[in-house]
Amino acid sequence: MVSPWKKIVQYLLRRKLRCTPRRILNLPVDIQLAELRRHAESLAKLAATLEQAEDFPNETAREFCGIIRASARLIYQRIAIAPPDRFSHIHFILAALGEDLRYADRSRVEHTPWSLVQAMERFLQATLGSEYQFIIRPQWSYNYAIVGDRVAYYRRLFSSFPDWIPISEWHATIKESASHRIFIISFPRVERMNVLTHANWGHEIGHILISEWMAEHFDELWQREAPAIEAAIRDYVQNELGPPVLADEIVADYMKRTLSLTRKSLKELISDAIGAHILGPAALASLCEFSSRFELDANPLECGDYPPWRFRLTKIIEILLPELQAAMTEQWHPALRSFVKWLEDWRQVLTSSNADRVAINSDVRSKKAYELLETNYERIRTEVLGSLRSHLQSPYSLAVMSSSTNTLICCSN
Ligand SMILES: [Zn+2]
Repeated sequence: MVSPWKKIVQYLLRRKLRCTPRRILNLPVDIQLAELRRHAESLAKLAATLEQAEDFPNETAREFCGIIRASARLIYQRIAIAPPDRFSHIHFILAALGEDLRYADRSRVEHTPWSLVQAMERFLQATLGSEYQFIIRPQWSYNYAIVGDRVAYYRRLFSSFPDWIPISEWHATIKESASHRIFIISFPRVERMNVLTHANWGHEIGHILISEWMAEHFDELWQREAPAIEAAIRDYVQNELGPPVLADEIVADYMKRTLSLTRKSLKELISDAIGAHILGPAALASLCEFSSRFELDANPLECGDYPPWRFRLTKIIEILLPELQAAMTEQWHPALRSFVKWLEDWRQVLTSSNADRVAINSDVRSKKAYELLETNYERIRTEVLGSLRSHLQSPYSLAVMSSSTNTLICCSN
């Protein structure tokens, strides 16, 4: 049996070993420099090798490798005159660029629904603009996600040492890519060949649009609403949490939490609406299927600030289903009519309870955040949809597409 003292010594030794990075930074400058140079050179070579791969489903991944190759090469060329107090920052950039190569590597045809990728990128560019580019890659976690513009992220990283590498020089190095915007869309690896669940990509595109809206308008909205929210929270803290010891600190903490909840919930709800607008009932159906593995009525404060699924789905189903029901005729293919019936069943389940609203109202933070969202949802949804290109102003309509959809179903049977 190991004695307690021996265990403590082992623990301290392990902790000491974990301090390795800090000790490296205390090494002589020439040793650190040599290692950073080698790192940058290896990264540039690796990116160049990947850039030559012939099995990318679209050109964006190749361009992305080129950006990383050129960025690493620039660091390599300038490393001899790098300021020593920025070495750890340079290491961070090299490590970040190296990690990001996995996005390109995993987007090769072997790992993706390659026949969809080009068409999807064209569709997304028609939605957002030709400067928007996408790498679509699987991830092992069961989730859909979008990583924000990597070119903008690298620009921020390189902007931090203007005396060493002016940003204009980085722009010149990556050439026309400097004006592009590259996003990474991830999908669950296990669903690679399931085109139906990929309708969730519409939601991820929604994230781009609502982020742009929020960058311009959210602060103004919050500042307008914050005084009334703070008054309600202060009232709650003083009356419900007992004597107001540290009341100001508690109110400040509650406000901070309410703000983050409002931001996140708004992003998710509007992204759902945009996905449903551009991809129609398929986006709703994929959200329904995705939600079925989660609690429908979890309080968002206990659920990573995500809105309750019942709340999310109800909002979208009430927008889409009435039009479908009104348009459906006996001429629709039975499979199409079954689909509408399936959505009606979902609506029945969703509207059979208001447990989501009970959960939201059970905490003053979520209650006030969702009051703000409910009041402003329609206006924000309209404004964000208004930013879509003119040919996408009308929502996708299964009713309009019913004839061609009938044909498609018949052909596939
Ligand atoms: Zn989302």
